[in-house]
Amino acid sequence: MSADGTPSDWALDRAHVLHPWTNFGPFEAEGSLVIERGEGCWLWDAEGRRYFDAVGGMWCTNLGLGRADLADAIADQVRTLAFSNSFVDMANPPSARLAAKLAALAPGDLNRVHFTTCGSTAVDTAWRMARYYHAARGEPGRTHVIARENSYHGSTYIGQSIGKRDGDRVPEFLYRTEGIHHVTCPHLRTAPDGMAEAAFTDWLVAEFEAKIEEVGAERIAAFFAEPIQASGGVIVPPKDYLRRMAEVCRRNGILFVADEVVTAFGRIGHWFASEAEFGVVPDIITCAKGLTSGYLPLGAVIFSDRIWQAMAEGGARWFTSGFTYSGHPVACRAALEVIGIMEREEILAHVEEVGAVFEEACFGLAEMPTVGEVRGRRLMICIDNVADKATGRTFPDEVNIGKRVSDACEADGLLVRPIGHMNVMSPPLVMTSDDALRVADTLGRALRRVADELVRDGVRVA
Ligand code: PLP
Repeated sequence: MSADGTPSDWALDRAHVLHPWTNFGPFEAEGSLVIERGEGCWLWDAEGRRYFDAVGGMWCTNLGLGRADLADAIADQVRTLAFSNSFVDMANPPSARLAAKLAALAPGDLNRVHFTTCGSTAVDTAWRMARYYHAARGEPGRTHVIARENSYHGSTYIGQSIGKRDGDRVPEFLYRTEGIHHVTCPHLRTAPDGMAEAAFTDWLVAEFEAKIEEVGAERIAAFFAEPIQASGGVIVPPKDYLRRMAEVCRRNGILFVADEVVTAFGRIGHWFASEAEFGVVPDIITCAKGLTSGYLPLGAVIFSDRIWQAMAEGGARWFTSGFTYSGHPVACRAALEVIGIMEREEILAHVEEVGAVFEEACFGLAEMPTVGEVRGRRLMICIDNVADKATGRTFPDEVNIGKRVSDACEADGLLVRPIGHMNVMSPPLVMTSDDALRVADTLGRALRRVADELVRDGVRVA
């Protein structure tokens, strides 16, 4: 209850909102933290407490919150043209200019853009597009796709069926399994027989080739891969893995779809990570999140001229996919402004610099008693908590280690994201090196406190 007797926002939320990924028991008991205001990397809750947001919204508030230049651009666009649909006979200046800008920034001949509402609808569209493309070039039998275990590709029916994280799968949702295959997650620490990096890469590539052989290359439309598996726990693949997987795709006529919903727009220091970090020019890139720095919802499928030409060949054929809000002028104007700010303020170079500091400080936390592995690149880092460092054994679920660590951070004014037994960070790209050191220091103290509590409570920590 608020002081004036009206229900608080916390109470209204708890009474009426079904949040994404709700766990009903804890939600009924605790409700959600109501955030009222944001400025730069900082958030304020309804009680006026301040938090450093090392979650970065949800891998997205790259330029920080409360920017007047972005607010002005958005307000100006609302006054000029708040909406106009972009179905085929209409266009608007921000979406045309943004598509051209994305084509200029994307690798290779990825010069065509289909706007969506978010990352999930971008992945859905890429799945349709891959099949449409193959059918248009006379191979309608190519309907299957291959993805990886422990990947996340969004929350629509197809996105959640292509992705495959254990915790996401509830039987009631009936995922599509027909025509969707999964191969091993390229996480070196889980390599069979403790293989070294080069041997593991060979093994993964051989497994992929065997899967193609089993399904039949002539039936496979696309391979979906996040360059770094984000929500799966920031899995950075072995050095040559993506390049070699892309070669196998090319040899077999399979499209390589890079899901860059998290990795694009600076998160690891590049506009797009596929080519700049991993040497792969994909056929299709899906992106969202950092595209508008989280200020407005927007996703995009960026695809090659080759795909466009095949789909367009023969003239009067319909691509019956898209959304009321595809190419939304206000969202596209926000994205143009975000890209402009990133260029003017040299954000990519800033990420290189701050990312190096953040990596080093976070990798230092590997010494903590409950930390089994620290993974990641630049401003995308995961702390993997374990009960036994030698064997990698995880804590029992009831210890709720990720949440325990994030609660301990929250008490110290720092937000980190719990995902199962892990804690994941993707802070705004604009944070300073001092911020980076402070985040790692606060997290380190929280990890130490939680480890001490676990020992005190008799939960063995080895
Ligand atoms: N793809 C990846 C790699 C993601 O991490 C996400 C969201 O976290 C999505 C797709 C789905 O994006 P959205 O939540 O905007 O639908």
